[in-house]
Amino acid sequence: MVFCPRCGSRQDDSAKFCSSCTQPLTDEWSTRTITHDIVIDGQLAFGLGETVIIEAVSPNPQRPEYRYVVISETLQKKFQLSDGDLTEVRRRVAPTMERPRTEVTILTKELS
Ligand SMILES: [Zn+2]
Repeated sequence: MVFCPRCGSRQDDSAKFCSSCTQPLTDEWSTRTITHDIVIDGQLAFGLGETVIIEAVSPNPQRPEYRYVVISETLQKKFQLSDGDLTEVRRRVAPTMERPRTEVTILTKELS
């Protein structure tokens, strides 16, 4: 049994998120690696292989995935990314000859 550091409610040992307030309960969420170049409003917000710090994680109510709040160092703004944009840091992203650029408009939105 573990206790949520934010709201104090009891959670299962295997829980990755607090069922009451969605606070992440493990450190493994703290950093991720960007899986592809992410262009937002014509500017490169995140580059392939860039390590980012996860500010917050929340389950996506519409789909079986998580949403991550990260700060773009180049744009100095917070954005919301999805599972497909990030990978675990330990897993190396294979370099590709041509780096695909993806314009993200639906899954990535700027946060105030
Ligand atoms: Zn909680």
